[in-house]
Amino acid sequence: MMELDRAFNPGIKPPQDNSNPAWWFAFQGVKLLIEPNGSGATIPFVPDFKDFRLTVVRRHFLGHLEDHPCYAAELAEGLTLPEGLALEGLRQVYGRLDEGLFWLAARAIQIVDWDRTHQFCSRCGTPTVQRETERSKECPKCGQIHFPRLAPAVIVLVERGNQLLMARSRHFAPGMFSVLAGFVEPGETLEEAVAREVKEESGILVKDIRYFGSQPWPFPHSLMIGFTAKYAGGEITLEDSELEAAGWYTIDNLPPQPGKISIARKLIDAFVEKQKRNPADLKVEG
Ligand SMILES: [Zn+2]
Repeated sequence: MMELDRAFNPGIKPPQDNSNPAWWFAFQGVKLLIEPNGSGATIPFVPDFKDFRLTVVRRHFLGHLEDHPCYAAELAEGLTLPEGLALEGLRQVYGRLDEGLFWLAARAIQIVDWDRTHQFCSRCGTPTVQRETERSKECPKCGQIHFPRLAPAVIVLVERGNQLLMARSRHFAPGMFSVLAGFVEPGETLEEAVAREVKEESGILVKDIRYFGSQPWPFPHSLMIGFTAKYAGGEITLEDSELEAAGWYTIDNLPPQPGKISIARKLIDAFVEKQKRNPADLKVEG
């Protein structure tokens, strides 16, 4: 779903030679260090981050973007920023940063967050040790391995003839509707999660569940797995207290939708394109 226009090769072991300029994805809390540039922004790109005189608490090598190393860094709290740099939330910089750099920042913040929250073994409380061969931490006392957290969530566009199912969560911006989504539960297949979420949230039954694409969602550590499905029965009933409205919409009658950052929007855009190319029969199936 998300394509980088430059080749990124992930890695664990940082290069020996530090003379090559590197991309520094540095965070203070959840805020990213950027260099604003007119209405756009870029990521600090320097051989030595020390030049900024900012205290780095921890850092991780992420890999190479073309020939240049990329690092994730956690900055100390309460720093005074040098002129020309700013700290901003990741969502706020989407559309201002180069798309490839944005998704690397999305990768970096998850590594920084995992590092910050896994300094101690969750099983026995002993300080953990970073492993050198893979992105994980080991407990030297009980041997438990701690990997970066990743919470899989399904997101699904349900079609019914020329309509799609959209719903509104209480947490959405005013007026905004989206397709349905929810976290996968232990023991479920992705398809089972799709059917359960749609049923729980809207009362609708689905069939023909098809994979659409996936997208990392670093708020804070989800992986969104997108599907399309077809209506198979049921009436809309809102039983989930999170949702305040749901309905069937045609493409000429769509409510405000999520921004282009999200796979939700890509699902909706794909449905719109499909309907424009080859309008569905108005007859409702199921
Ligand atoms: Zn332990």
